[in-house]
Amino acid sequence: MKTESTMGRVYLVGAGPGDPELLTLKAVRVLGLADVVLIDDLVDRAVLCHVRPAARVIHVGKRGGCRSTAQSFIERLMQRFARRGAVVVRLKGGDPFVFGRGGEELLALEAAGIPVETVSGITAGIAAPAAIGIPITHRGMSHGVTLVTGHTRDDLQPDWKALARTGTTLVIYMGMGNLASIVAGLRSGGMDGSTPAAIVQSGTTPRQESAVGNLDNIEAVASTAKLGSPAIIVVGAVAAFGARAATGATSLAASLAA
Ligand code: SAH
Repeated sequence: MKTESTMGRVYLVGAGPGDPELLTLKAVRVLGLADVVLIDDLVDRAVLCHVRPAARVIHVGKRGGCRSTAQSFIERLMQRFARRGAVVVRLKGGDPFVFGRGGEELLALEAAGIPVETVSGITAGIAAPAAIGIPITHRGMSHGVTLVTGHTRDDLQPDWKALARTGTTLVIYMGMGNLASIVAGLRSGGMDGSTPAAIVQSGTTPRQESAVGNLDNIEAVASTAKLGSPAIIVVGAVAAFGARAATGATSLAASLAA
């Protein structure tokens, strides 16, 4: 670690969705610079091979039923190390600014006068669907995407009725605990029960599991397949692409051509 007088810096780094090969080159480079790495649960430990042996690795987040490390504590920890001159890497799953609280950390560090840089990562909402062959946009099928959380701290649910009418692909993070109410909300917003829906659990990891169905049967399909968190739920026409991964068929291309 450097002397007291030199200010360190913090990198808010996205580790990608799970597969350690989906780290960016920049993430690998800054991991190699780090004196201290604060790593989230969802991040595969394999990425730590890029960290110098002398670096200190601190695991934050909830694992094995433990309570998650308080956000304020993580922020204080980063500030303390950076003030002592350390290069700190805050390594988060996916992208740090997509449901990752990266924005809060950025503001706290900036307010404390600590140099901070963000290194984007590949978000699960893009990579997990892609892992089963679902493009979240597709010409003539989906003209946009809405990334939305299915779980909010204040229990203020997203306006599923309104989201049903956007005509965009819905990519839902943290939705498995609320799947029933999400489906009900979308149905009451007028979304057809036959709208394709897919769930990808632990996408891009060796534990990847998925299921494809439609809005009406997705809960049953998910429970038969015993799917749980972490998972991405995709709702919209493009979700039907996932059926090819499940069956190995090219029927979607055939049905699109028809
Ligand atoms: N910042 C992260 C998201 C963190 S919120 C990102 O950009 O990807 C945590 C949620 O992300 C999980 O509940 C789940 O909905 C989703 N998630 C993270 N990794 C995932 C993976 N490998 N497969 C499917 N969903 C994942």
